[in-house]
Amino acid sequence: MDVQPRRNTTQKRVILHSVEQLGCHPTAVQIYNAVREMLPRTSLSTVYRNLGILVDQGRIKAVKGTGSEIHYDHNTGEHNHIECTICGRVCDVHVNPVNIETLNPETVSNFIVLEVHMNIIGICPECAEH
Ligand SMILES: [Zn+2]
Ligand SMILES: [Zn+2]
Repeated sequence: MDVQPRRNTTQKRVILHSVEQLGCHPTAVQIYNAVREMLPRTSLSTVYRNLGILVDQGRIKAVKGTGSEIHYDHNTGEHNHIECTICGRVCDVHVNPVNIETLNPETVSNFIVLEVHMNIIGICPECAEH
């Protein structure tokens, strides 16, 4: 038997573990750096490939910030994000979403509202310290 499948499974497990452990939603490069501490021979392309598989399987979510980098989120439920304007870190926000039903026509310039996207930008605690 080839050892390849088992190695792939280990890599995927470590990658998934890293997405969970890194807290705020890490980028592929941040995940790569964390995975290399456990599996030093893992390549960046392997990390990208496995992240793609995990997203396809619905085990993690790909989150787009304002920058070009994709962030990976282990919380696959419906929720909103806040992004640091300085370091680009993307984290969860825990507030109730705007309920479309409760919006008065006057508050939305008489538009018919179809969707609400919440986009919160801020400064993370680490950047605020410096
Ligand atoms: Zn920051
Ligand atoms: Zn999230």
